[in-house]
Amino acid sequence: MSATETIHIDGVWRAAASGATREVLDPADAKVLAVVAEGGSDDTDAAVAAARRAFDTGPWPTTSVADRAALLRRVADLLQRDREEIALIESRDTGKTLEEGRVDVDDVTNAFRYFADLVMNESGGRVVDAGSTEVHSVVVYEPVGVCAFITPWNYPLLQASWKVAPALAAGNTFVIKPSEVTPLSTVHLVKLLVEAGLPSGTANIVTGAGNPVGARLSEHPGVDLVSFTGGLASGTKVMQAAAPTVKKVALELGGKNPNVVFADACATEEGFDTAVDQALNAAFIHSGQVCSAGARLIVEESVRDRFVAELARRAEKIKLGRGTEDGVECGPLVSEQQLAKTEAYVASALAEGAQLRCGGSRPEPSDVRPATGYFYAPTVLDYCHGEMRVVREETFGPILTVETFHTEDEAIALANDTEYGLAGAVWTSDAGRARRVAGRMRHGTVWINDYHPYLPQAEWGGFGKSGVGRELGPAGLAEYREPKHIYQNLNPAPVRWFSG
Ligand code: NAD
Repeated sequence: MSATETIHIDGVWRAAASGATREVLDPADAKVLAVVAEGGSDDTDAAVAAARRAFDTGPWPTTSVADRAALLRRVADLLQRDREEIALIESRDTGKTLEEGRVDVDDVTNAFRYFADLVMNESGGRVVDAGSTEVHSVVVYEPVGVCAFITPWNYPLLQASWKVAPALAAGNTFVIKPSEVTPLSTVHLVKLLVEAGLPSGTANIVTGAGNPVGARLSEHPGVDLVSFTGGLASGTKVMQAAAPTVKKVALELGGKNPNVVFADACATEEGFDTAVDQALNAAFIHSGQVCSAGARLIVEESVRDRFVAELARRAEKIKLGRGTEDGVECGPLVSEQQLAKTEAYVASALAEGAQLRCGGSRPEPSDVRPATGYFYAPTVLDYCHGEMRVVREETFGPILTVETFHTEDEAIALANDTEYGLAGAVWTSDAGRARRVAGRMRHGTVWINDYHPYLPQAEWGGFGKSGVGRELGPAGLAEYREPKHIYQNLNPAPVRWFSG
């Protein structure tokens, strides 16, 4: 395969039918990192046709569960074999640090192993009591069919794998379209699926733009399910495009996630240090380009000044630079567009009355290398409120806003004052309060005295406009299965409903 043959259809790597290509940039220096195929509608149609054939004629949907699980485990082993190579690809493509890239590979490996175990341990169906010994009634779980996956640029390999692993475990075939900004690790993943022995046509990839490739996949009559991870605006379009064909739609969208800190969590020096450290991690890891980023600090008024001062002091010390360099703690934003968006959000917040505690600009060229990268200083904005754009909208940049509360009810109301509902945290030393607040937060994941961990065994997804459906956990496998009721009458006889 040549470097620009990044489209894989029916077991063959190829260039775009049109011959078009796209340059993929390294966000740390804005230089060309790779050139990939720029697929179009014709490539998309060919990929769906291949996935359709592979589904309708097999062998993957009828491959035994044990063999499917064994393939997933081989993929997990191959991911570990290529751990350093993939972490480097992910770091160069997204800007994240190499260590974050390694963590992503390990998490993805765990997801493949988890779904291999789950599909082996879960019964393939269940007997239903029909109330008669003359009837044998069972519910079986069949694959949905041809799946289309559309993924974002912040966790390219991870988001792809949360779809690919359960879909394959359940016996589906698929076409994936990675983000045009960061397609490289997904291309590598498809290579590993092929190496692991997946039959031709089962896994197809079309690199290319949201429109036409993602849009065509969403509307395509040959696609049975579309699973999308990305922003609210594109997710809405996917749902609309999918409606006329009534395909199944799963959406993992953005978040505007509250990190609620009660004063009692800061009562000891240790508690204070931990809460500040984790607030920093919640907001600024991967430069805030995380769907579950704790971008809204909601802190009890009595500890605000001390908490925010310490947070800003530590945020200013975060070392920016190329993600592959030793000692670098935060990479660049992924693109010039994301950088411009971040600058605009900070400008609007300041115009609306927020007070800048740190950051608020690109770093001085002398403070960061390479100077041409899309870097932005971690920014803390104090005295924010729910009417501000920066508080309502997902910025997806290194911006932390601060709001305060006096009572538990106020804290909960602020935490829920968002159209999203992906994730959030509560920090308190009062166990009863922790459970009360967590119970009332309208978010798909709530952390108590922690931020960011997730488990492949536990469902991930959002309330409200954060999405539809769940990934990971048993529900993450159920998305890719159609329950079918088979009712067998062992002793057929006329029912005589009609007299004639
Ligand atoms: P995006 O919506 O711009 O793009 C996501 C994908 O959709 C890309 O592959 C893009 O090419 C494609 N796309 C764009 N327009 C399309 C269209 N009309 N039809 C079909 N596909 C189209 O999002 P992004 O900027 O790549 O990623 C950031 C967003 O992803 C953030 O909002 C973030 O919160 C979200 N995200 C959510 C989760 C989660 O688990 N909920 C995880 C990661 C990222």
